[in-house]
Order: sequence, then structure tokens, then C-alpha cells
Amino acid sequence: MRFGWRLLAICLVIASAVTAGSGETGKSVAAPSRAAGQSSVAHPAPPATSSSNATYTLSPERRAQAIAYSHTLYVLYFVGTLISIGIYLLLWRARVSVLFRDWATKSSRHLFVQCLIVVPLFVMATAVLKLPIHYYASFVLEHRFGLATQGFASWVADWGKGLAIEALVGSIVLWVFYFVVRRSPRRWWFLFWLASIPLVLGFILIEPYAIDPLFYKFTPLEKSQPVLTSRIEAMLDHAGLAIPPSRIFEMDASSRTKAVDAYVTGLGSSKRVVVWDTTLKTMGSDELLLVLGHEIGHYVLYHIPKEFVLDEAVAMLFFFLGFFAVNRLVERAGPLVGIEGVGDLASLPLVLVVLVGLVFLSAPIVNGISRHYEHQADQFGLEVAYGVVPDPNAAEVHALQILGDQDLADPDPSPFIKFWLYTHPPLDDRIRFAARYKPWSEGKPLMLLRAE
Ligand SMILES: [Zn+2]
Repeated sequence: MRFGWRLLAICLVIASAVTAGSGETGKSVAAPSRAAGQSSVAHPAPPATSSSNATYTLSPERRAQAIAYSHTLYVLYFVGTLISIGIYLLLWRARVSVLFRDWATKSSRHLFVQCLIVVPLFVMATAVLKLPIHYYASFVLEHRFGLATQGFASWVADWGKGLAIEALVGSIVLWVFYFVVRRSPRRWWFLFWLASIPLVLGFILIEPYAIDPLFYKFTPLEKSQPVLTSRIEAMLDHAGLAIPPSRIFEMDASSRTKAVDAYVTGLGSSKRVVVWDTTLKTMGSDELLLVLGHEIGHYVLYHIPKEFVLDEAVAMLFFFLGFFAVNRLVERAGPLVGIEGVGDLASLPLVLVVLVGLVFLSAPIVNGISRHYEHQADQFGLEVAYGVVPDPNAAEVHALQILGDQDLADPDPSPFIKFWLYTHPPLDDRIRFAARYKPWSEGKPLMLLRAE
């Protein structure tokens, strides 16, 4: 699952070194070019295939790598948040935002044009300051653990494209923000929250069309995998679901990484299931059907609109808190450098300090909501595969085992890390559930399929 709210947050927390992840790996701390494993590793037969007590198991060497890699990502997440705050404070104290504001107000009287000047300059300034940690997190680390396949030139091109998107989206979002703040100094938190609804919906809608193709190629899965697609259709028929195969895409993730993943994105006519080509290369067709069953669960159970509503509810609370924090911070820190109030474009770094703090503090709530739906999608995947895959439990256990091994998923995250960062239940929990959830063998009704 991917969330427009996170996208919006990322755009607002301009050029953040550490972004929210997506897909099924279960770590929300992956760097932009996301995490992975070595496809050169031969996959052992599924451990304890038909037993009900399978666990996530790695070779001692792979386990040590997974722990080292995951722990580095955790440190990068927390350190990256502090570095972001430090950079914004630097841009405030060094009067950089005041300088940008002066240039913009001299160039135009229109707020939108001023935003088109200030925001891209600000994006560039922060990107330069964050370049070391961004380069380490998304290039050096990925190569060190043998996860990346991306060359340096391609990485630089992605970095540039990402900044252009941030500059454009950031200009629009911040134009709305400053417009609302100037119109209604006392109620802007509520009005900006209202405005965030169409903004986020717009991002979710256009992301599959406008943003994703800038980085990857998408081809309908039925073109490259006709046999698999007909099995998928059989699975959907079996469940009485109508998802056109034209909505299921293959993505050339192998141009960047060795990681395996799949996700559901978009809304309405842009809604789609996406499977990374690395996943297609690494898994057998039973395992792929289970991965797709999970993704189809997100689609059929309306997880994107449901999470959107819940995440917006969380955002409303945090915007309310942010209102007081921004007012207080700008009141105290603004006059030191010549910032004339929250509605002054020069307040941008102080607004972003508060926003980074709020995004950080809301992470456990948003991720907790996500874990709930991810578990539901796992359950749905098993139910929808029953009757099509000979042993759905064994196939799901094996699929998750490959996912963990390839992506170097942490075998034993601490309760705190799980609570704060995990968008999915830890892999060991998912595998244990996959091994033992078989209501059909106990004469119990299916829980999720029936609801549809
Ligand atoms: Zn999922």
C-alpha cells in the first residue's frame, strides 16, 4: 500500500533523506531506492512446508546481514529526522529563507509566483545539505549490502527527478498553505486540513500516471506472464471478484534493485496492482499467486480509501497541534531574523521544523493503521488462493520467506521499532500466521472473502 498522505508529507518535508516505504517488505524506513537482498542466493526448499509452526529462518550469514542492514536503516531514520530539523534551523538562523523571501517579493507581487521562486530555491538548498546522508542511505548502503543494481548516473538522474517533483508539488502545496494562513490566521489549521483532502486525493489519483512512470516502466502482466494471468483469473473467478487483468502491472524494478515487492496504488480509474519483475523472477507461480492474492485484498477490501480516511483523521489532530506549535515557534524565533509572522514566506523553515516533528510523532499511529490492513490483506490472500493453489499455507510461507531473504528483512525487530516504524507485521509474525490460518480445514467460514 502507498499513501497519498505520506507523499504529501514527503513533499512538505522537502527533500527528506529518509522516506516512507511502500509494498510488502514491512519496513517503513527504506531509502528512496528501497531495500533488498541478493538474488544470487539460492532459495532453499520452503522450511517445514505443510507444518503449522513455520518461522522466518535465515542462514547465519544472511541473518547477520539482515540485522546489520535493518539496524542501519533504523539509525538513519532517527538520525535523518534530526538532521532535517537541524538543516531547517540552519536555513532559518542563517537568514537563508529571509533572503529567498526578499528575492521573491522583489520579483513579483503574486503569492503563487513568489512560491515558485522560494520553494524551488529552498528545495535545492536542503537537497545540497542533505546530499551526504541521502547518498549514503540510497546508494552506498544499498550497494554495500549487494541490494542495488543501479549505476551512479541513473541514481543521479532519479535524484534530480525527485527534486523537480518536490519543487513543483511543494510550490503548489505551500502556495495553498500561505494563502490560507494569510486569509485566516486563526483557523488556518482547519482550512489547510480541508484543502489537504483534495490535494492528497489528487496525488493518489495522478501518481500512477504522472510520477511512477518517470522512474519505472509498467507493462500489463498478461503480456509477459499469460499463464500466470490465466491462473490469476481463475483465482478471481473462484472468489467471484471482477478485477480486470489490465489493472495488474509488471514493473522493471530490476533496473534499480534486487529487492522483491508488490503494491497496490491509485484510486478509481488509476487503481492498479503492481508486481516488481524481481518478484516474478524469484518466486514460483504458487508463491506469486499468494503475493497477488494479498495485493488483490487491498484492492477488493477498499484499503486505499479506508486508510485515506483514517490518515486524514490523524492529520486533522496533528494539524491542530501544529497550529499552536507553529504560532509559538514563529513568534519566538521569527523576529530574530526578520520573519514577520506565519504568513511570511520566510517562515518556511520553521513551519517545516514543526511538520517534521509532527510526521515523526504521527508515525506510530499511521503505521499501526497500516499494520492492521496489511494483516487483513494476508488473511484475504490465503482465503482467495484456497482452491486454486494446492497448499496456500505452504505457498504463502515460502513467498514470505523469499521476501525476507531477498530484502534482508529484520528477523527480530524490537517491540519499539515495530511500534514506531513497521507498516507491516514483522515477517516472523506473518509467516507464523500464514502457516496456521486454514479455516477450511477446521470447518470454519472464510472471514473476508464472504464479506464481498
Ligand atoms: Zn500489502
